[in-house]
Amino acid sequence: MTAPLHPDTVAVHSGRSDLTALGVHALPLDLSTTNPLPDIERGGESYEAMATGGRPPADGSMVYARLWNPTVARFEEALAELEHAEAAVAFASGMAAMTAVILAHTGTTGARHVVAVRPLYGGTDHLLGSGLLGVDVTYCQPEEVAAAVRADTGLVVVETPANPTLDIADIADVVRQAGGVPVVVDNTFATPVLQNPIDLGAAMSLHSATKYLGGHGDVIAGVVACDERTAEALRRVRAVTGGLLHPLGAYLLHRGLTTLPLRVGRQQESARRIVQWLIDRPEVAEVFYPGLDGDPRGILARQMRGTGAMIAMRLRGGYAAAATVVGATELFTHAVSLGGVDSLIQHPAALTHRPVPAEARPGADVLRLSIGLEDAGDLIADLERAFVALAASSDDAPAVEERGRVRS
Ligand SMILES: *Cc1c(COP(=O)(O)O)cnc(C)c1O
Repeated sequence: MTAPLHPDTVAVHSGRSDLTALGVHALPLDLSTTNPLPDIERGGESYEAMATGGRPPADGSMVYARLWNPTVARFEEALAELEHAEAAVAFASGMAAMTAVILAHTGTTGARHVVAVRPLYGGTDHLLGSGLLGVDVTYCQPEEVAAAVRADTGLVVVETPANPTLDIADIADVVRQAGGVPVVVDNTFATPVLQNPIDLGAAMSLHSATKYLGGHGDVIAGVVACDERTAEALRRVRAVTGGLLHPLGAYLLHRGLTTLPLRVGRQQESARRIVQWLIDRPEVAEVFYPGLDGDPRGILARQMRGTGAMIAMRLRGGYAAAATVVGATELFTHAVSLGGVDSLIQHPAALTHRPVPAEARPGADVLRLSIGLEDAGDLIADLERAFVALAASSDDAPAVEERGRVRS
């Protein structure tokens, strides 16, 4: 018996077990929408197997690409291995993945209630509160999950570190409070490099693969790692509703996984330097980054292998200061999304968290930074340039306290 492989090795080799038999080395890209059927009987049986969430039978056919695609399946196998899960199911976006998770745990199970731990990514908060999926939602804090669970609760949703203020929830404790109710952890910010929710008892680890997994800002995708039984339920929703990932996206994601540990490690290193620099800046009222309070409850030590490369900060000078800073950086692009090779800066209250009710929305003085692969010194110089612009713009502006109330 050999020792388990290091995650760096898994990232490079996973999801490739059939390539040698195919006689190829690099990942193949299979774009067929339809597939030949051996005969009517086995074609029909194959369809039946996959429309109910199964895999294509050995002597059957993949039938149709809404049911199965080998390029997507290889990416799923790789992600499952990185997440220490039996299986994974990929979707057209992170939101399609979350929609399928909610439908699979409410629609047909008689459960109509979802417990959602805040803060959450604005889109997830919006989806749950929209009424579109016909579910009742109770929003709560991580320590209130047990009190929020009801007899008809089908799912608990939690995100950690959470978008945008990097709040940390204790995954094992949320799972314990949930009792038997399945918990989905949005693991987008941590990636499987830093955190494996399934090892902590979560039923599912969900990613907006658009972010770190893709890593290059050119794929919209989502993926859920889970056990095979849950994967069947999710594949059934995917086959029926059609929120599937295009094989080109899966190909790019699978290729991107090979550098995921390297990227996250380097981005985290730069983020830590930038956090240390931001803490001392007079323009910054508060820095949000995991572990800045020293991990008093030991949660980070129990569930994470690092603190990641997402930073949020609250500026003295409120909304006006935030507007000046996002307009003044040059290396940091003012844009939503995160986790790519290049650094981004954005204003959550106006953008990613715009649909969130005011009481749960981040402040108008908060900016979120996604640290890329540029040199950390260059990124610090870029932020410094923006802070200098801020000082220049505030010379003839109203007092800081007043401007802080411009929009809140
Ligand atoms: C972006 C994001 C999502 C939504 O993913 P899409 O791929 O944009 O649909 C979900 N959760 C988190 C934490 C995100 O950052």
